[in-house]
Amino acid sequence: MKPYFYENTWKVKRTYGGERLHFGTDIMDIEDERGRLPIVSMTSGVIEKIGWNEKGGWRVGIRAPHGAYFYYAHFFMYAPDLYEGMHVESGQLLGYMGDSGYGKKENTMGHFPVHLHLGILLTIDDREVWINPYEILRYLEKEFLF
Ligand SMILES: [Zn+2]
Repeated sequence: MKPYFYENTWKVKRTYGGERLHFGTDIMDIEDERGRLPIVSMTSGVIEKIGWNEKGGWRVGIRAPHGAYFYYAHFFMYAPDLYEGMHVESGQLLGYMGDSGYGKKENTMGHFPVHLHLGILLTIDDREVWINPYEILRYLEKEFLF
């Protein structure tokens, strides 16, 4: 049995921080346990953002070589020695899944089940566009994991 599950929740309504839509895929820990599941980078790239933000909690943003931005949120903890500007390889450990976020105060946790929020942002004709990671995850799972 897989230790995680995810559904297609693209553009489902979210209410924290005002009404908004869900622009990503949530990969849930079936055990709902902080720090249990490792999170690795899907791509090579450069860490553009790391640290706290209100909605995403402890998050990492990675810019891939061809410009796509991969946003990973709600970490419990980071892998050691990550910093902005650092180069990472695909498969490199970024940290562990958690439930951080939904608070202005750093280290706010426990407002939702343990999961990884994955967002993928592309720049198309100078416009930034979130795309739905769901089918990409399904495809990668099929090709590379099982
Ligand atoms: Zn999410």
